[in-house]
Amino acid sequence: MMLDPLEIKRQVEEDLKEVKSLQKLLEVKAKYIGKEGIITQALKAIREVPQERRKDYGLLINTIKEGVEKLLREKEEELRHLEVEERLKNEWVDMSVPLEPLVGALHPVTQTLRRIKDIFIGMGFSPFEGPEMELEEYNFDLLNIPKEHPAREMQDTFYINMEGYLLRTHTSPAQIRVMLSQKPPIQVIAPGKVYRRDDDPTHSPMFHQVEGLVVNEYVSFRHMKYTIESFLRAFFEKHVSVRFRASYFPFTEPSAEVDIGCVICGGVGCRVCKGSGWLEVMGCGMVHPKVLENCGIDTDIYQGFAFGMGVERLAMLYFGIDNIKLFYENHLRFLKQFI
Ligand SMILES: [Zn+2]
Repeated sequence: MMLDPLEIKRQVEEDLKEVKSLQKLLEVKAKYIGKEGIITQALKAIREVPQERRKDYGLLINTIKEGVEKLLREKEEELRHLEVEERLKNEWVDMSVPLEPLVGALHPVTQTLRRIKDIFIGMGFSPFEGPEMELEEYNFDLLNIPKEHPAREMQDTFYINMEGYLLRTHTSPAQIRVMLSQKPPIQVIAPGKVYRRDDDPTHSPMFHQVEGLVVNEYVSFRHMKYTIESFLRAFFEKHVSVRFRASYFPFTEPSAEVDIGCVICGGVGCRVCKGSGWLEVMGCGMVHPKVLENCGIDTDIYQGFAFGMGVERLAMLYFGIDNIKLFYENHLRFLKQFI
């Protein structure tokens, strides 16, 4: 069987024109150089060629075979190149396209904490953050909380298995840290996490407080009253009535609890204010002279006032939430209401 090299080349080129995939290319390959392929068959037929012409025949077929293989290789390269181009086209990312808005949002407690901070920063306070693992001395002793004070009992405080340390039960030790490290005039707020061994619908073992401290010459209760009233009206974004009730804290003298007219019922009386028309929102007072002295501040020249508020408490009132646990259960149905 004689093959015409030009005819074969033309046939192969004709077949390859139709080939658009590597799969199809394999079929063409099989047709010519596969086990039963035209060229393979022609090579096998060499046995039937007379002895004297075998050499020329073999050379011819092999030349044809090489030519065909070359065409197939070129086609394969072309197909692979197209495949890469196609893939790159699909995977190409336009870096200049604007992003979809990020999924996620700030937790209502974080939102509230930031709002509180922003309001006080606007009033000239500087933020200060103390450690959550605190010295017992700073958490109690220097704040004039004597050894026998009920707040020191084991049921309230998380003690740490390290002499003299505990998880702070309030942000007030930050006052001590500020007064030990800065000279008056002092005007700081200390936000952060605090820990207590309480756990019921109105208490959580961890919650957030914001502490405020002002120490300067001629600081009076009136300054404190003005500061707190201004803050509360800014926080609730409306005119709320504010009252100061005499109270007791070891680290302030005199001390007061601050109530606001119930933001839920407007003072008529409801479940949240337990019918009284008032809601307790923070504690405050003039810094006890003993506390100032403990920190080396001259009480003949300086006075101070301090206040502390629960962030969850304010968030609950602001958003109208009645169970503090909702803040820590991370149910999306709850959290999505504050986006
Ligand atoms: Zn009420």
